[in-house]
Amino acid sequence: MNKHDITHILDEIAFLKELLGENMFKVRAFQNAVRVLESDPREIPELVETGELEKLKGIGKGLSAVIRDLVKTGKSQEHIALKKQFPAGLLDLTRIQGLGAKRIKGLYDKLDIKSVGELEYACKENRLVDLDGFGEKSQRNILASIEHFKKSRGHFLLPLVREEAAAFCDYLKKKKGCDKIEIAGSLRRHKEIVKDIDILVSTKTPEAIHNAFAKYPEVESVLAHGDTKSSVILKSGVQCDLRTVSAVEFPYALYYFTGSKEHNVAVRTIAKRRGIKINEYGLFRGKKLIPCKSEEDIFKTLGFNYIPPELRENTGEIEAAAKKKFAPLIRDEDIRGVFHVHSNYSDGSASLERMVVRAQELGYEYIGISDHSQSAFYARGLKEDRVKAQWKEIDRLQKKVGIRIFKGIESDILPDGRLDYPDALLAQFDFVIGSVHSRFQMPGKEMTKRMMRAVQNKYLTFVGHPTGRLLLGRDGYQVNLTQIIDEAKKCGVVPELNANPQRLDLDWRMCQYAKKKGVQVGIHPDAHSPEGLEDVSYGVGIARKGWLEKKDVLNTMPCAEIEKFLAKRR
Ligand SMILES: [Zn+2]
Ligand SMILES: [Zn+2]
Repeated sequence: MNKHDITHILDEIAFLKELLGENMFKVRAFQNAVRVLESDPREIPELVETGELEKLKGIGKGLSAVIRDLVKTGKSQEHIALKKQFPAGLLDLTRIQGLGAKRIKGLYDKLDIKSVGELEYACKENRLVDLDGFGEKSQRNILASIEHFKKSRGHFLLPLVREEAAAFCDYLKKKKGCDKIEIAGSLRRHKEIVKDIDILVSTKTPEAIHNAFAKYPEVESVLAHGDTKSSVILKSGVQCDLRTVSAVEFPYALYYFTGSKEHNVAVRTIAKRRGIKINEYGLFRGKKLIPCKSEEDIFKTLGFNYIPPELRENTGEIEAAAKKKFAPLIRDEDIRGVFHVHSNYSDGSASLERMVVRAQELGYEYIGISDHSQSAFYARGLKEDRVKAQWKEIDRLQKKVGIRIFKGIESDILPDGRLDYPDALLAQFDFVIGSVHSRFQMPGKEMTKRMMRAVQNKYLTFVGHPTGRLLLGRDGYQVNLTQIIDEAKKCGVVPELNANPQRLDLDWRMCQYAKKKGVQVGIHPDAHSPEGLEDVSYGVGIARKGWLEKKDVLNTMPCAEIEKFLAKRR
């Protein structure tokens, strides 16, 4: 059991105790233990062995016994006994936004709701409207959250899936007989949400590889175990499929299993007209295999230029590849500096200095600090005096470091479209990001008007996370984005491609639109911690998927050019 598994169970124990109406001190003790263990850098078995566990704050006898049980046996009798007292589906309810133990208990006691399905039904029947502690508005929010819950089952964000895929491949690579190995599917195409991991291996001993695959220690259950295809579910919930082929078949299979389905269908139709049949085993003229050593060979045979995996979505790439080569897509190393960085002046976790030093370590030439503005009270947004204090600190810091620091702000776009400070102050920042953080439910027309007004503000440099979506969490607000991008072009404003893997906003489909219109975007980490700076790479992946080249991204410019660009806006 890893740390996450253990804290997850402790969390569930706390929840179930609260549901039972047990003493709140006991409940909080479990919640507290989760926090303490998560913030301790050491692994839990180490804490148990050295006896350090009992020295941690708030871990008393009862708790340490539960944790020791979990480490030793992977189970806790207390957990099992608690779970027995409730229907299994009840725990799913904790994944619905806004539902804590108290409200779930209310639903269970009064409406006998034991699962998400029952809750959905009850909402649709308007049963929550008059229920104590609920109401029409919370019923509406719960329904929306249920929609997301349903959609997100079996869907995952990139960081988890990438990490799982890399670890699984490392494990398989070490097995005898594993010749070539590649990730295929939507992960290779850098989709923003991934359903499963597709691994392709070429081998002369498929049986041994499939056995090793099923025995991977992170496997929770085996769905299928064959000698060409196997499927497992990992402990993290991610499904992983393995296909094995011969060395000759490998390039064809890689192309085939990378997809997308839409791309494959379109290419297959064109190939058919030219008398070529494509499947996972090869390219055939009649029954004769056309030899190809790589995907490049396959495209050449079909009369196309090479199409990078990210672009294979049947959104114009096939037509383009028939005519010309793709210009090289943007790469991580093209990014010269970053904007949209938070510090602990607002809701970031690290000091200004740590953020700046980390950006310098990552090799960036410049960093744009942008904490939250004053109306973002929930994020400790900066009043004017704090802004000035930050500027002083930046000036001091600038003398010590080699990286150029730009003074910026992430200013709330107020419901009427104004920015959150008087012009006199806005004018003194090196750059201003305008973001919507409130009143997400505005009708589309109003929201578009609101954002248009912000774009027209002469002090605005960037439009932050343009739709506000949270992948697998919340839909974006209603806004006519093409209109915003058109206006951005007119006003010289740069739309952000927010690289936080939960946002990835602009969407890649919109990047294509921006490129067509000749609008540069900025790939911004929206970092709230030093590690967050490295999210830029997720943004680069999405930019590639949106066909962007180096020249299409603002922060590929060297520092001197960026200075000139920013000065123009002041
Ligand atoms: Zn924001
Ligand atoms: Zn931000």
